[in-house]
Amino acid sequence: AKADGGDANKLFQSEMRFLLHEKFYVENDLRRALERGEFSLYFQPQFDLKTNQYCGEEVLVRWNHPTEGLISPVKFLTVAEETGLIVSIGEWVLREACYQKKKLVNMGFPQVPMSVNLSLRQFLHRDIVKQVEGALHDSCLAPRLLELEVTESVTIDIDRTVNILNRLLALGVKISLDDFGTGYSSLQYVSQLPIQELKIDQSFVRNIGQGKQSEGIISMIINLAHYLEISVIAEGVETEQQLMFLQKQNCNKVQGYYYTKPLCMSDYQKYLRTKII
Ligand code: C2E
Ligand code: CA
Ligand code: CA
Ligand code: CA
Repeated sequence: AKADGGDANKLFQSEMRFLLHEKFYVENDLRRALERGEFSLYFQPQFDLKTNQYCGEEVLVRWNHPTEGLISPVKFLTVAEETGLIVSIGEWVLREACYQKKKLVNMGFPQVPMSVNLSLRQFLHRDIVKQVEGALHDSCLAPRLLELEVTESVTIDIDRTVNILNRLLALGVKISLDDFGTGYSSLQYVSQLPIQELKIDQSFVRNIGQGKQSEGIISMIINLAHYLEISVIAEGVETEQQLMFLQKQNCNKVQGYYYTKPLCMSDYQKYLRTKII
């Protein structure tokens, strides 16, 4: 038993060393990536369920790694968050998104909002309002064309969050509550947030047609949004069946592979041209 414990301990230590190493490398890589401009933005359109029209898009960051290729944010955002690098990566995303959106508007595409994800650490950073203001100012983007997605995790400090949200709203941007229904925040807190949209998490959407439970939660979220007189969007819509259900429940907007995966800017423009006119 003692030998086993020792082996397990050794294994644990080497595993830890590996993890620490890995984190160290990823951190350095991320820092370099920012300096070398290896991040890029992908865009996924959103559609209004009543009119079937393009009504916005979400910006999703990608890392174009020199040897590993295109890396998904789920693979590097945890390290970025833990090391605080998310603040500078997030600021780059925010600025770049505003510039790209301004470009779309100048090209004559419809003036619908673009959503940018903000992580908890980024949202609670003392410069967040200044960052948003700076990105809008420098890009000359109309504030109403920028929407910020935050998760329920922001209710961890409700007073501070309401204060930040109010200052962001004063700039003229919109706020959407992402991954709604997956956090453990109380509805009491959520109803206190000055937000304009609830975003139903894709885990519920995935289970449409697979049982009454997720469908019940979805219709509850939609009713809640209507009661609060805010908009509601479902993400991760992949099938006609999911779309029909959401339509029947009077969900306002949808986004997902059913329409398209997130696209790089040039593909996104091509895609939009097929949807408009
Ligand atoms: P999220 O904000 O919930 O974004 C939705 C994720 O679902 C995206 O993954 C998107 O590509 C994917 N998705 C869209 N439609 C479908 C669908 O029909 N089916 C399925 N299975 N998936 C779909 P992605 O791009 O890998 O991003 C993962 C997460 O990383 C995001 O989840 C968000 O939390 C975070 N993230 C992405 N970009 C940024 C960013 O710029 N800043 C911050 N802070 N977080 C970001
Ligand atoms: Ca939106
Ligand atoms: Ca999101
Ligand atoms: Ca989400």
